[in-house]
Amino acid sequence: MNVLRNRGFRWISLMVGLVAIIALTAMNVLSLYDLRDRMVEGDEERRTDQLDEINDTIRNQVLDPLRGLGQIELEPIEESLRQSGQLPDNILEVLERSSKSPYFTGIYFTPDNTDPCLEESTVYKYDPTQNGIAPTNNYPNLVCDGVGIARTKTRIQLNDFNYRWNNNWEFDTHRSLNLGLINLSESRMIGVLTLTLNDDYIVNEVLPPYLKNYFGTSSETGIVVWVRDWTNDKILATNDSTITYDRDLVDHSMGFSGSGFLDNWSLYIGFLESPVTNAYNANLFKNLVVLSVAMLFLTGAFIFIFVTAQRERDLAQRQASFLANVTHELKTPLAVMQAAGENISDGRVTETRRLKQYGEHIYNESIRLRGMIEKLLDVAKVDSGQNMSKASPCKPHDLLSSYLSENQKYIEEKGFEVHFTSHDEEALAMIDHDNFETIVSNLTENAIKYSTDEKYIEYQISSNSDDVFFSITDHGIGIPKRAQKNIFDKFYRVEDSDSLSTKIKGHGLGLSIVNNMVEMNGGDIEVKSSVDKGTTFIVRFPKLMKEEVSADTINTVDTNSSLNKKINKHTEYVG
Ligand code: ADP
Repeated sequence: MNVLRNRGFRWISLMVGLVAIIALTAMNVLSLYDLRDRMVEGDEERRTDQLDEINDTIRNQVLDPLRGLGQIELEPIEESLRQSGQLPDNILEVLERSSKSPYFTGIYFTPDNTDPCLEESTVYKYDPTQNGIAPTNNYPNLVCDGVGIARTKTRIQLNDFNYRWNNNWEFDTHRSLNLGLINLSESRMIGVLTLTLNDDYIVNEVLPPYLKNYFGTSSETGIVVWVRDWTNDKILATNDSTITYDRDLVDHSMGFSGSGFLDNWSLYIGFLESPVTNAYNANLFKNLVVLSVAMLFLTGAFIFIFVTAQRERDLAQRQASFLANVTHELKTPLAVMQAAGENISDGRVTETRRLKQYGEHIYNESIRLRGMIEKLLDVAKVDSGQNMSKASPCKPHDLLSSYLSENQKYIEEKGFEVHFTSHDEEALAMIDHDNFETIVSNLTENAIKYSTDEKYIEYQISSNSDDVFFSITDHGIGIPKRAQKNIFDKFYRVEDSDSLSTKIKGHGLGLSIVNNMVEMNGGDIEVKSSVDKGTTFIVRFPKLMKEEVSADTINTVDTNSSLNKKINKHTEYVG
């Protein structure tokens, strides 16, 4: 119950952990995209603001010479004109300054009682050489337009009770700047100053360097800017003449000036593949890669910890049940030996036949006990790393033949048909004899244990250019596919309720010992098995080339070795 609850809890923890990792990753990915978008937007906003800056700068430069006009009293203008035909000095000062500005081509003054739209009207023109105004009826048409606009708009302003400036300026689109001059105390107009604009200068001299400095070429900044006269559908200026104006390329547009200045001009900005955006994208990509790798590691570590914990838990469980079994297994032969010994020592058994029977019991049980203790010692040695293999060049064919000459009869007595095929009697490998014997005897022990009706064991030796193979095949109960990857784990047994092997005694140590010994000799082991058909274990050892060994170093098998005796006992233990 507790185990089940723990297992459920572990799975829930794993799921929660994985969901947390996924949520964390998703959150990070979203915020990385968000960060990239905000940076790109921030950059685009900054660029759009730069267009505003250009607007403001040009407007300020246009209006700059007229600054200070607001503080001048304008009432004396009419008196001065009547008396001397001139404007007052302080006004002439402003006009002189304005005449030097490259933004203007001419300066005109139209008194309020003059209608410049009528033919033969006389207005005043400022002459910079005289620093004064002179009457003229030769003036451009746009004076008529400018004065008209300025008068209309200034009168509207004057109707506003709160208007308290002495002038009001208006642009006639990109053609003229007009200042309605006001007599504030009488709340009426004095006249209009018209400054004709030099739009060629703005288009050819002012805009190109500004656009170039702020935006470079589109290949440098990924930005294209156009100044367009939308009434005439004409591109006036651009930072990159190689790119033709296209409405679809425009991301933002704005009037050239927010206050009536050149208001039929528009500024367009388009963001192409910008190097800045590319850099942000590259940065985003880099961050995503780092994040993915980190998350993969985290998930990997998480799953690794989970799987390891699961394995540790299984091992602990197997170890616990092994301990219980082994204690039982050790007690049984001891109890038999104790009872037999007691009967003999009490003198209760005197009959020779029964004495022999008791002696055989004690002998068999002691061998069984010894076999078991030896197996446990093998595991303990492998675990503690004490099992030092003393590998020497030898022929697996000879080792196997020697094993069979000792054990074949015994195996056949158990009812087994034994076959031995050798495809390469001369193949050499570096193997420790004792280890090889343990490997063969453990695999034989299993073939015997896990065979039921069809008692058949086949041994084979074969080789290819690199390896020597030893295999053992039985026609026994077989091993289910899903269990095959675990059978070499210590204490692992196939113990399904529907599996026959559950009923066969064992401790799950034999194959773990075999696996360790094969590895210690530089080889590996694989299993091929189908349930109810049989099992083949194939052991591979690296082949030793003949030229690498001199004949006298090849070990022949000592059939009287202590190990062969051990195998006999071992096999008896199996029985
Ligand atoms: P034991 O035989 O003591 O249980 P092993 O480590 O030798 O332990 O084997 C582990 C498991 O592998 C066995 O419990 C058995 O289910 C399965 N197994 C091993 N050899 C065979 C075989 N030849 N045929 C069928 N099953 C086998």
